[in-house]
Amino acid sequence: MALPSPPRAWAEIDLSALQHNLQVARECSGCAVMAVVKAGAYGHGLEEIARRLATDEVAFFGVANVGEARRIADAGVTTRIYLLGATWEAERAEIVHRDWTPCLSTLSEAQHFSDLATAAGKTLRCHLSVDTGMGRGGFLPDALPTLLPKLEALPGIDIEGIGSHLPSADEDEVFTRQQVALFADTVTRLGGSSRFRWIHLNNSAGLLGYDRGPCNLARPGLMTYGISPLPGFGERLRNVMTLKSRVTLVRTLPAGHGVSYGRSFVTTRPTEVATVGIGYGDGYPRHLSGQGAEVVIHSQRFPVLGRVTMDQIMVDVTGSGIVAGAEVELFGPHLRVDELATKAGTIAWEILTGITPRVLRLHH
Ligand SMILES: *Cc1c(COP(=O)(O)O)cnc(C)c1O
Repeated sequence: MALPSPPRAWAEIDLSALQHNLQVARECSGCAVMAVVKAGAYGHGLEEIARRLATDEVAFFGVANVGEARRIADAGVTTRIYLLGATWEAERAEIVHRDWTPCLSTLSEAQHFSDLATAAGKTLRCHLSVDTGMGRGGFLPDALPTLLPKLEALPGIDIEGIGSHLPSADEDEVFTRQQVALFADTVTRLGGSSRFRWIHLNNSAGLLGYDRGPCNLARPGLMTYGISPLPGFGERLRNVMTLKSRVTLVRTLPAGHGVSYGRSFVTTRPTEVATVGIGYGDGYPRHLSGQGAEVVIHSQRFPVLGRVTMDQIMVDVTGSGIVAGAEVELFGPHLRVDELATKAGTIAWEILTGITPRVLRLHH
C-alpha cells in the first residue's frame, strides 16, 4: 500500500504558546480566566484546544452555542461551559440537563430556565448579561435593580454571576472608560461585588488596556491565540497558528504574460512564478488579490501575483532558486496574521475562523 502524501495546506498549532498566552492574560487581568473557544477555538480546533487548556486552571470555556458546548463536553472535558450568546427555547432543556451556564437578557428566559430546572429537580447557575453599550443582548442597566428581586425569587435558577461586553475597547478609549464605570456602578446598585461569585467584562482589548474594576473573571479570546488587539502587547504573546503550504510548480513566464483570473497582473519582465497549493477554498482570503500580500519561503518574503484562486496562488520567486516542494508560510511567526487582515480589509478574528476544514490542523 502506498504511503499517504504530505498535506497540501496545513496549520501548525503550538499548544505551549497557547498556554503561555493564557498565562499572560491571567497576569494582565489579575483575574481568573474564561478561555473563549467559540468558532472552533478561533479555527485552532475546538476539542484539541479545550482538552489542552482544561488542565490549566481555566474557570470556564466560553462558547457561542450549544453545538460547541456539546463538542467540548463530549470530548470528556469537565471544565464549566459558559454560553456567550443568547439561547433560544429549544436549546434550553439540554443546557439545564448538562449544567451549562447561560447568560440571561430577559425575565422570560429566566422563567423558562427556572421551570425546566425545577421540573428536572435541579438548580441551574446563570449569569446576568448587562447591555452597557454592545447592543447585542443583556438587560439594560437601569432595568436591573427592580428586576433582580424577581429573578432571585425564581426557584430553579441561581444568579451567580454578572457580565457585560465591550464593543470598542480596541477603538474608543473614552467610550470604553464610560462603559467600565457604568458596569461598576451597575454592580454596586445590585448589591456590590460580594453579591456575585463571578463578575466579568473584559475581552482581550479590555483586559490589556483597562483596569479590572469590580471584575474577578476575564474573557480573553484573540490574545490567547497570540494576537494582540492593542498595539504594544504583541511582544509578550507567542504565535500559535502557522498556516503553511508548499510550492507545487515553478515556471518562467516571459514579459507581457498575464497571471491568474482577470489578468489583473501582467509580467513586465521574465518572471519565475511559483504556484502554491492554497487558496480561498482553504480560507486564504480572496480579498488579498492585488493588495500587496506576501508569503514567506525560507525566511524570505515574496509577493503574491494577481488574484487568489480557490486552490492555488502564484508568487514571484525570480532569482531565488526556490524549487517545487519548498515550504511556504502564509502567516505565522514571520508574517503576522494581522498584517494579512489589514491588507484583506478585515480583522485577524475573521481570517483565523475562516480557515476551512480542508486545512489539516497539526497540534504539537
Ligand atoms: C468573542 C467574545 C470574547 C473574546 O473576545 P476577544 O476580543 O477575542 O478577546 C469575550 N466576550 C464575549 C462576550 C465574546 O463574544
